[in-house]
Amino acid sequence: MKASDYIEESTRYLMGTYRRYPIVMRKGRGVKVWDTDDNEYLDFIGGIAANVLGHCHPKVVMALQKQAQRLLHVSNFFHIGPQTELARLLVENSFADKVFFCNTGTEANEAAIKLARKWSIEKHGHSGHSDHSDHSDHSEQSRIEIITSSLSFHGRTLGSLAATGQDALKKDFGPMPGGFIHVPFDDIEALRGAMGKNTCAVLLEPILGESGVIVPSPGYLREVRALCDEKGILMMLDEVQTGIGRTGKLFAYEHEGIEPDIMTLAKGLGGGIPIGALLATDNAAKAFKPGDHGSTFGGNPLACSASIATLKVVMDSGILLDQCKRMGAYLLDKLNDLKLKHPDKIKEVRGKGLLVGMELEFECADVVKACMARGVLLNCAAKNVVRFMPPLIVEEKDINEVVEALDNVLDQD
Ligand code: PLP
Repeated sequence: MKASDYIEESTRYLMGTYRRYPIVMRKGRGVKVWDTDDNEYLDFIGGIAANVLGHCHPKVVMALQKQAQRLLHVSNFFHIGPQTELARLLVENSFADKVFFCNTGTEANEAAIKLARKWSIEKHGHSGHSDHSDHSDHSEQSRIEIITSSLSFHGRTLGSLAATGQDALKKDFGPMPGGFIHVPFDDIEALRGAMGKNTCAVLLEPILGESGVIVPSPGYLREVRALCDEKGILMMLDEVQTGIGRTGKLFAYEHEGIEPDIMTLAKGLGGGIPIGALLATDNAAKAFKPGDHGSTFGGNPLACSASIATLKVVMDSGILLDQCKRMGAYLLDKLNDLKLKHPDKIKEVRGKGLLVGMELEFECADVVKACMARGVLLNCAAKNVVRFMPPLIVEEKDINEVVEALDNVLDQD
């Protein structure tokens, strides 16, 4: 079938939730993908930060093949070997004591929201205060408010959407579940001011990814940790985008020398296979009892096998994490050079590890399209931020190619 036929059928049969480029991708290896016309692309979208090891990493493919011949799915009525092994790997390499598996980032955040509420109800009971009169509809279960940040993104299902700090995404989908307060990101006093007797948790992205790679000031997350301790509430980090090596550490919280109480993961966790996870300390996790939460496919053997292989490669002697740091610094340098060359077009370059944003003085859709025509896949986060999320295996020569394409495109604008 020709690309144009696929595109016509796609438009006929699929719901119109996505604005897609008129390209049909056929295969991928490492940092590259090829479309059905055999055009080659350097992939710096990376499956929206999911392909931490690039396309079809041999260790992940091998793990999938092995597991596929043994057992695909069986349900959580039973113990599942790869699920247990993956949980152990995550616990041994993070702050967490316990793990719950699901399938996506939004599901992981739903689970986090439920866990925080249940933890709080177990701690304080149902009776409560209502010092935030605009949220007094929760007077029955008072201490269930969660503070998140403006411009945050936590997912598309209703709980995660309610947690998300972007009104435009909620329009026409109300009513939203209540119990969420949004405060400006990177503003500790705003956070302190929003905390009331009904607050049970704070949920934050360590870096705002979807809103254009907004990196908070050094020390912000440490102050959030201290504030949560002072108030006796949970600190929850959404590391769906920043986790699994993306920022040069296995988890972004490690940069700040702190530990959250709860963390959510997805994207990179499966190396290209859908899996999500909720990680928590024993103190928080013990609020979940049998029947409180679940997922038919969560932690299924196939996804867990892919995830074990991915994690092992990412963690292997820290080689890839070091490479991520080096390549991230290299990319930032190159983009800063580009900014010097195009000071009227590039406003700011920022990021950590291989989560990098280049803010333009104008909307970036046309720049991204022009790069695509030159065989470079980039993505627009917010309207004017070009986002770079290549796999951690990316090399200098790939970065050079991408920056050269950008340079040519900006020259022509
Ligand atoms: N949280 C963050 C920080 C994200 O970046 C995303 C997706 O972009 C999500 C949650 C939602 O993840 P998913 O699309 O897997 O539901």
